[in-house]
Amino acid sequence: MKKRNIYLDCAATTPVDARVLKEMQPYFSKVFGNAGSLHSFGQAASRAVFDARKKIADVLGASYKEIVFTGSATEANNLALRGVVERAKREGVKDINIVVSAVEHESVFEAASALDVEVRVAEVSSAGVVDLAKLEKLIDKNTVLVSIMYANNEIGSFQDIKKLSTVIKKKRGSGVYPLLHTDAVQAFQYLSCQVDELGVDLMTLSSHKVYGPKGIGLLYVRSSLQKGRGNSGDVAHIEPIIFGGGQERGLRSGTENVAFIVGFAKALELADAMRIKETKRVCVLRDRFLKELLKIFPQSKLNAQKRWRLPNNINIQFKDLLAEEALVFLDLHSVAVSAGSACSAHNLQVSPTLKAIGLSDEQAKRSIRISLGRGNNAEELKRALAIFRKMRKSF
Ligand code: PLP
Repeated sequence: MKKRNIYLDCAATTPVDARVLKEMQPYFSKVFGNAGSLHSFGQAASRAVFDARKKIADVLGASYKEIVFTGSATEANNLALRGVVERAKREGVKDINIVVSAVEHESVFEAASALDVEVRVAEVSSAGVVDLAKLEKLIDKNTVLVSIMYANNEIGSFQDIKKLSTVIKKKRGSGVYPLLHTDAVQAFQYLSCQVDELGVDLMTLSSHKVYGPKGIGLLYVRSSLQKGRGNSGDVAHIEPIIFGGGQERGLRSGTENVAFIVGFAKALELADAMRIKETKRVCVLRDRFLKELLKIFPQSKLNAQKRWRLPNNINIQFKDLLAEEALVFLDLHSVAVSAGSACSAHNLQVSPTLKAIGLSDEQAKRSIRISLGRGNNAEELKRALAIFRKMRKSF
């Protein structure tokens, strides 16, 4: 019998959970109404969207009015950055700047650099953790937004968002700015994302990283940033970036993707319920795997450190093997891992995240990411290690 391919790239994407798929199924052709229609077909769809929104809000400790569905986390990040900056411009804030960390995902970096404002970059330590004292110095009276990701997609480092929010609030005083946005796409699976506990104003999530369908994301928008009730343009401190029928309280026009919204809610609910157990399980698997991997490649090195790291992430630097060579070999032997982030896997640009934690171009080019998930077990990882052993012998 042919052995199953081994997928060790869960930070890139995850398969749709069977329970999620089941929940979504009726909304493709049975309950197919437009959630904006007034008739019973529309009402059934609208009810499903409402229930999903409420379910997600409960998981995040938020109000259902604070959940804005988008087509992806990339779009949610764009909405957070552009939406806040455009609004601040309208409010007459001059010489605007925003602060982002040096290890953000491209969807934050690129969105930031496409804005016509100064972008200040907060440095991170060799562990990939933002230096709060340095960050504080970057913030001044013209800073309208600080966007710092909760957990990194390449090295799995995560930030103390709670502490960060205390710093931001101190800087804010009695004013509105700076607002705090976090990209929690990679964090949700393993870290609590209760918005009040974290103290964030805006938070991004993506469905396909938590065993939901691809092509749906959300932006949590604290109610104090929203003034209007569904009238396009009638919002405070954040502007829409997509205009049209005024769905999502005017913040994201476009017919609601009912089936995907329902699936996203189920996926978040399941991940939330499984978080503690799954974190422990994956952490044990990861630690064992890493120990063996370091035995196979004794001169290799873990990039960043074990503390402040997601339990499923390994980012390892080989001494004399290029990431590309390793990826091709492993793929030929049915093991999927990645180099850098999934989104930049097709361009050979050196990972800015690895550079930000102090790696040289050469070291970064010899680094691969292994990210575990629900589908992995001890037996499968043992098989994967045998292939890594084979790779060692082949180069
Ligand atoms: N933010 C982070 C940290 C990610 O890892 C990703 C996906 O790789 C994204 C944002 C973009 O998510 P999406 O694929 O939903 O646009």
